[in-house]
Amino acid sequence: MGRSKKLYERAKKVLVGGVNSPVRAMKPYPFFTKHAKGSKIYDVDGNEYIDYCLAYGPLILGHAHDYVVGKIKEQAERGTAYGTPTEQEVILAEKVVKHVPSAEMVRFVNSGTEATMSAIRLARGYTGRRKIIKIEGAFHGAHDYVLVKAGSGATTHGVPTSAGIPEDTTKNTILVPFNDEEAVESVVKREREDIACIILEPIMGNAGLILPKDGYLKFLREITEENGILLIFDEVITGFRVSMGGAQEYYGVEPDITTLGKVLGGGLPIGAIAGKREIMENFSPLGKVYQAGTFNGNPMSMTSGIATLEVLERENVHEKINSLGEKIAKELRSITDYYVSNIGSMFQIFFTEEEVYDYATAQRSNAEKFLEFQRALLSEGIFLPPSQFETNFISYAHTKEDVEKTIAAMENALRKVSGK
Ligand SMILES: *Cc1c(COP(=O)(O)O)cnc(C)c1O
Repeated sequence: MGRSKKLYERAKKVLVGGVNSPVRAMKPYPFFTKHAKGSKIYDVDGNEYIDYCLAYGPLILGHAHDYVVGKIKEQAERGTAYGTPTEQEVILAEKVVKHVPSAEMVRFVNSGTEATMSAIRLARGYTGRRKIIKIEGAFHGAHDYVLVKAGSGATTHGVPTSAGIPEDTTKNTILVPFNDEEAVESVVKREREDIACIILEPIMGNAGLILPKDGYLKFLREITEENGILLIFDEVITGFRVSMGGAQEYYGVEPDITTLGKVLGGGLPIGAIAGKREIMENFSPLGKVYQAGTFNGNPMSMTSGIATLEVLERENVHEKINSLGEKIAKELRSITDYYVSNIGSMFQIFFTEEEVYDYATAQRSNAEKFLEFQRALLSEGIFLPPSQFETNFISYAHTKEDVEKTIAAMENALRKVSGK
């Protein structure tokens, strides 16, 4: 029996489903990782894969980037947590403020989940209103207010909402489809006095990859401004990924509050809430919106984040990864009629030939076929996240040769899947 299989048998006895996050579950069992470097991830059975999962988004420089690892080591020697302020928190916050157009102040937390949870609380505290508008299929982490039609994990596993969340909690969460201006208009007309915020991923990355239509984000900016509603961009995936300033810079639309995570931590746990001073100063200790955490702004995550952003600042990372992303999308389109979605270094192939522009159209794809495709690719040494409703990422460590090998493998895998 292989080592991954053996570890899986052990894991199932002590970890629920053998994993610590449901998206990692894979049939018949997931591979267990031994180590990873650059664009490659290696399992305990000695297999090598070109990695397009990249820990679900953080690793923009690839695995174990030498400069980042060096800085993390130095920091570990100096201590891993202090419970006091450090210069590193100031430096990383200054970088966020410098690059993210709408950010004037920052609060660091430990995950994207905490960031959106606190951002929603902040919006409610600031406006004194109860309700929030959320996009169908958008994922903002695994907390109660947003676990309604919440994208990848929930979607793949067929549990659109979660047990253990009282209706009282989600009754203030109003769902609208992505890219649908009329739906937002009618909700705002009906309930404007009650709505604290609209939260969305400006580019959806947890229902597959879905781009905003021309003018949609600008429309949201205008209607929220006119009605005293705060606009929250959840840029946990897109922040520092589609450009240094995230989707808000890319599309030229500034939200009131931004949530960040993933790339910002350079591979260590992180989350952040950023926004206008007038709004942010409602957080404790200055304001009445409580927010706290033992590991908030911890020096390990700050150091890893600073080192990662330094590399992004001084090298042409985005230019390189974006051109590889566009190459892979272009070549995929030339070998398949399935719908291929792409922006910069993010891409996904949907197993449907129709255009995907929201959650419902994403659901038309054949998710089972995608999993066959994903498994066929694994056997060729290519690792995509095991779900139709995730996004594939490219890192700075990926090479043209990696991409060419991947396209050849995808061509084989597509033939295998359609030949059934
Ligand atoms: C991953 C993700 C989150 C949650 O971040 P965690 O660090 O996993 O808690 C929130 N929002 C979006 C858009 C994400 O992709």
